[in-house]
Amino acid sequence: MLYKIVRKILKVFAYLLCKLLGQPSVSDLETQLHDKYVQIQQLEEQERALYRVISKIRASLELEKIFRTATKETCKLLRIERIAVYRFDENWGGEFVSEFEFAEPGWDDVDTLGKNTVWNDSYLQEHQGGRYRNNETLVVSDVYAIGLSQCHLEILEQFHIRAYATAPIFVGKKLWGVLAAYQHSQPHEWKKLEIRFLSQIATQLGFAVKQAEFLAQAEQKAAELHKANEQQDILFNLVAEIRESLNLDTLFKTTAREIRKALRTDRVSIFRFYPESNYTSGEFVSENVLPDYDSTIAIKVKDDCFSEKYAVAYHQGRIQVLSDVYQAGLKDCHLQLLEQFQIKAQIVVPLMKGKTLWGLLCVHQCRCSREWKTPEIQFIRQLAAQFNVALEHSELLEQSRSQAHQLAQANHALELANSQLEKLSKLDGLTQIANRHCFDEFLEQEWVRLRRTENYLSLVLFDIDYFKGYNDFYGHLVGDECLIQVARAAQAVLKRPTDLLARYGGEEFIVILPNTNELGAIKVTKLIQKSIQQLKIPHRNQNNFQSFLTVSLGVAIQKPTAKSSPQDLINAADKALYKAKEQGRNRWVCAAKL
Ligand code: GH3
Ligand code: MG
Ligand code: MG
Repeated sequence: MLYKIVRKILKVFAYLLCKLLGQPSVSDLETQLHDKYVQIQQLEEQERALYRVISKIRASLELEKIFRTATKETCKLLRIERIAVYRFDENWGGEFVSEFEFAEPGWDDVDTLGKNTVWNDSYLQEHQGGRYRNNETLVVSDVYAIGLSQCHLEILEQFHIRAYATAPIFVGKKLWGVLAAYQHSQPHEWKKLEIRFLSQIATQLGFAVKQAEFLAQAEQKAAELHKANEQQDILFNLVAEIRESLNLDTLFKTTAREIRKALRTDRVSIFRFYPESNYTSGEFVSENVLPDYDSTIAIKVKDDCFSEKYAVAYHQGRIQVLSDVYQAGLKDCHLQLLEQFQIKAQIVVPLMKGKTLWGLLCVHQCRCSREWKTPEIQFIRQLAAQFNVALEHSELLEQSRSQAHQLAQANHALELANSQLEKLSKLDGLTQIANRHCFDEFLEQEWVRLRRTENYLSLVLFDIDYFKGYNDFYGHLVGDECLIQVARAAQAVLKRPTDLLARYGGEEFIVILPNTNELGAIKVTKLIQKSIQQLKIPHRNQNNFQSFLTVSLGVAIQKPTAKSSPQDLINAADKALYKAKEQGRNRWVCAAKL
C-alpha cells in the first residue's frame, strides 16, 4: 500500500520535474511513439503501394497503358480527385496525354480538363518548363490562398482547380512533362508522403517513357532493316536485270518502276543530256510516275545555270539530296524548273557513260517535302552505279553490233566473190560449160562414189569433124561462135542434174553420165549427135562437099573398180572416138567393155 502511494508521489514528482525542465512526459513520449509507429506503417504501406504501381508500370511497354495505369493507381492511392499526365511540345506548350478522374458524383462538370486538353501556359513557355527544369515539385493547397494573379486564377477556375501538386517527368535529362494531382471540390493539405509518392511515380514514368522510346526506336530500326532488306532484294533483281538487259529502253523503264515502288516516291525519271549541249539542255527519256502528277517525258529542259553550278559536281560523282526544295536556297531559275514538275523533294544522282556525264537519275517527291533516309540514298546510289555499267555495256554492244554488221557485209561480199571465182575457175570462158579442171574433179568424185555403190559410169567424148577447115574457111571468130552453139545443143540433151558436159580440149567435148549403163549412154550419144546435126551449121568436108557440121563420138562405160582408174575410162572413150573418126566420122563408136 505504502509502495503504491510512494510510486504515485514519485510519478507526480517526475511529471512536475519534467514540466519544470520542459521535457516531454512518458505519456507524451508514448503518444509520439504511437504517431511515429503509425507514420512508419503508412510509409511502409505507401512504399508497398509504390512498388505495386511501379511493377504495373514496368509490366507494359505501351505508353498509353503505362499512363493509364500510373494515373489510375496514383489517383486511387492518394484519394485525389484527378491525376493527369501533361506532355510538353517543342515550344513548351503542351497537352494532357492521359488522366484518371476519381470524382465524387456531382462533379461531372469538371471533365473540361482531361486527355487531349491543350494547355499552353505562358509562364512555362517563356521559361522553357520553368522550375520543373530544376526537378522541383509544385504544391498548392488552395489556389485562393497564395496570391495568384487574376489571369492565372482564371485559368485554374476554368478547369475548376482548387488545389494541386505537380512533379516533373524527366526522360533521361530532358524535361518531358508533368505528373499532376488535382483537387476540384475543396482545398487539399498536401502531405509530404503524398508529394514524395507523386515524385516517385513521376520518376518511374520517365523511366517507362524512355524504355518505350527505346522499344519504338528498336521497332523502327527493325522496320527500316526490313525495308532495307526489301530494297536489297529489289537491288539484287535489278542488278541481274541490268546485267542481262541489252535493251536500254526496257532497262530505263524497269529501273524507274522498281525504284519508285521501293521508295514509295511519286516519280522516278531518267534525264539525258543532249550530247552537244555542254550540259545545258536535255530531256527526260523514261519515267515512272503516279497518275496524280504530270509526266516529264519528252519535255525538253534548258537550264543554263546547270552547267556552271552543278555539272562539275555531278561529274565528280556527287549527288543532290533535297528534303525541301524551298529550304535549299536554290536559285530562282532552278526552283522554277522544279516547280514546273511539282517537285517538293528530290534525290538526283549522276549517270555516267564511261567518263562522260550521260544523264541524271531523278527521284521526285511531289506531294510534300521528305526527309530522305541514308539507306534510301545508298540504295539509289548503288542502282545508279549498276546503271552506269549498263550504259557502258550498251555502247560496247552498239560498237560490236555495228562491227558485226560490217563484218557480215564484208563476209557476204567475200562469199559472193568466192563463189564467182569458183564458178569462173570451173567454167570454160568461151562456151560457159564446165572446163577441163571441173571435169577432172567431178569425174574423180563420181568414180569414187560409183565404185562404192557399184554402179555404171559412162563417158561420151566427141570432136567436131574437119573443124580445122571450118576455121580456115570462116575465120576463128566464127569458129568460136560455132563452138558455143555445139556446147548449147549438147547441153540441151542432158536432163539429169548429175550429168556433166565439159569442154575437154579445143573443139573436143566430153560428157560424164553417172549411174548410166551402155544402153543409156548410147541413147544420150545418139541424141547429142542428132542435136548438133540439127543445128544445120553449113560446112564443107575435106572434099569440099557442101554439108552441115557434124561430130564423131566415142562412148565408154564402166563400173568403177579398185583396179582401174578414171584415166582408163577416158582412154577407152578416146580410143572409141578415134575409131569413129577412122570409120569416116559423123558417127559414134562404143568402146568394148573394159
Ligand atoms: P578431125 O575431123 O580429124 O577432127 O579434123 P579436124 O580438122 O577437126 O582436126 P583437129 O580435131 O585436129 O582440129 C583441131 C582444130 O580445131 C584446130 C583448130 O583450128 C580448131 N580449134 C581448136 N580449138 C579452137 C578454138 O578454141 N576456137 C576455134 N575457132 N577453133 C579451134
Ligand atoms: Mg580435135
Ligand atoms: Mg576435129
